[in-house]
Amino acid sequence: MANWADSIARRAISEMKVYSARGATTSALHLDANESPWTPPPSDASVTDYNRYPEQQPPALGERLAGLYGVAAKNIMMGRGSDEAIDTLVRTFCEAGVDSILTCPPTFGYFQTAADVQGVKTLEVPLNGIFGWDIDGILETIHSKAPKIVFLCSPNNPTGGSLTQEQVVGICESSKYTLVVVDEAYVEFSSFGSLNTLRLQYRNLVILRTLSKAYALAGVRMGVCIADTDVIRLLLKVLPPYPVARPIEKAVMKALAPATMSVHARRIAIWRSERTRLFGALHNSPFVERVYPSDANFLLMKISNIDGLLSRLAQFNVKIRDFGSKLPGLFRLSVGTPDENDIALAAFKVAHAPTSGERTGEFFRTTNETDIAVHVNIDNPETTQIDTGIGFFDHMLEQISKHGGMGLSLTCKGDLEIDGHHTIEDTALAFGSALKRALGDRTGIGRYGFVMPMDETQAKIAIDLSGRPSFTFKGEFPTDHVGEFAAEMCPHFFQSLSQTLGASIQIDVEGENTHHMIEACFKGVGRALRPALARDGEDIPSTKGVLS
Ligand code: PMP
Repeated sequence: MANWADSIARRAISEMKVYSARGATTSALHLDANESPWTPPPSDASVTDYNRYPEQQPPALGERLAGLYGVAAKNIMMGRGSDEAIDTLVRTFCEAGVDSILTCPPTFGYFQTAADVQGVKTLEVPLNGIFGWDIDGILETIHSKAPKIVFLCSPNNPTGGSLTQEQVVGICESSKYTLVVVDEAYVEFSSFGSLNTLRLQYRNLVILRTLSKAYALAGVRMGVCIADTDVIRLLLKVLPPYPVARPIEKAVMKALAPATMSVHARRIAIWRSERTRLFGALHNSPFVERVYPSDANFLLMKISNIDGLLSRLAQFNVKIRDFGSKLPGLFRLSVGTPDENDIALAAFKVAHAPTSGERTGEFFRTTNETDIAVHVNIDNPETTQIDTGIGFFDHMLEQISKHGGMGLSLTCKGDLEIDGHHTIEDTALAFGSALKRALGDRTGIGRYGFVMPMDETQAKIAIDLSGRPSFTFKGEFPTDHVGEFAAEMCPHFFQSLSQTLGASIQIDVEGENTHHMIEACFKGVGRALRPALARDGEDIPSTKGVLS
């Protein structure tokens, strides 16, 4: 007796044998897959495996993505974007000329395209006038027409709204012979969490996730289908033998390195606040009749003067998505960086739009010794989140960010089992590089910063953000460590910082307690950085006219 998933799959798929692709590369002499015994040119130590077929589902990547989404690796299928998951679901479960899928337009167009390619009918239960789901209509169509798959998109593209958990439960309960696929391509931007937790109760629930949006990997092509193991087993029969190329696996693992997660979170926070800013500001555009609330990284708008808007967009060289062929007057704007959004608002003729104009910089660095991600915002001290694994050092970095008046998200996973040297040095280099990026061409900055003695410890610090590195340090620490932090790493940190930031840093510290002396250096550099980073006007503060 076929199990539940086989009983709803296409019979041909249920009955066919798995194509036996080449499995994992082992220590054996591999003369089994007609591969080249030579690696491709140019010879590069990092691509020694490019001449070998990858596994259909590379296990290390599977573990990483399962961890990211909080599911077991056996419950996921990886493919070339969630597009491939959609296509594979339709080809696995829908018999050409017999079966149907259900969609709720306006929604993501590829659901229907995948059905058209397979020769499968698309039943439509449109969203209502305020772009909510017609749940009764969906249930009625499931009962009367028994579609094999219901494709729901939450948050929905292009309307931006989300389904509630109760709505999805109701649909899952309506028929156990219908797969309920919830495409969560934009769920990272939403305040509602993923519905994946419902999967344990409803085996017909399938969740789609993508790395194309929140994780910035649209060009790499990686998406995940999360489902019951029997559904996954069938999908893997239909998925081509090698959909995850080796360079793709490397790129995804790099972009999801543990240290990067704080920066991804920071970006999502920026995306959300920019969405709120755009939502408020676009109401003031003479072209905009209505902006629809959105849980995603885009906003749908009803436009009144379409020709006028199109000519402004052309003038500002801004492209947005026109749904006019199916939805007259509706346009979708993706949320960009704060600077990009300022340009979009100017194109929309939003008078007095609040400009963000915040100076931010990111830097990522991965070596055999450390894995570091930094996000710095010189103009907004709201977020500080630091984790280097060295408590005292975290405390010192907080001093710089607090006294420098900047936001700092910094994660470093270093080889602390050896000692703190690489962690401290590489953090300084990465922090300096991120600050340098945030400063851009250094327009309008104060450039110089000074601080005077502090408490019983005297730390005199002078800074010049000249663009050129130089460093001097005067001071003798009474002890060689504070906790696991070696005192000698204090000057080394600032020397490394001056190198990548392009700054002259002079420190002269006197005191009797090493903890106080180091803290005074970090606080003092933060204090000195504050006026040096502060922006006032448009001048480059140099008689040369350039700081580099
Ligand atoms: N689902 C939705 C709702 C989308 O909007 C998109 C892409 N625009 C996709 C899936 C496809 O994403 P991927 O890049 O993972 O194929």
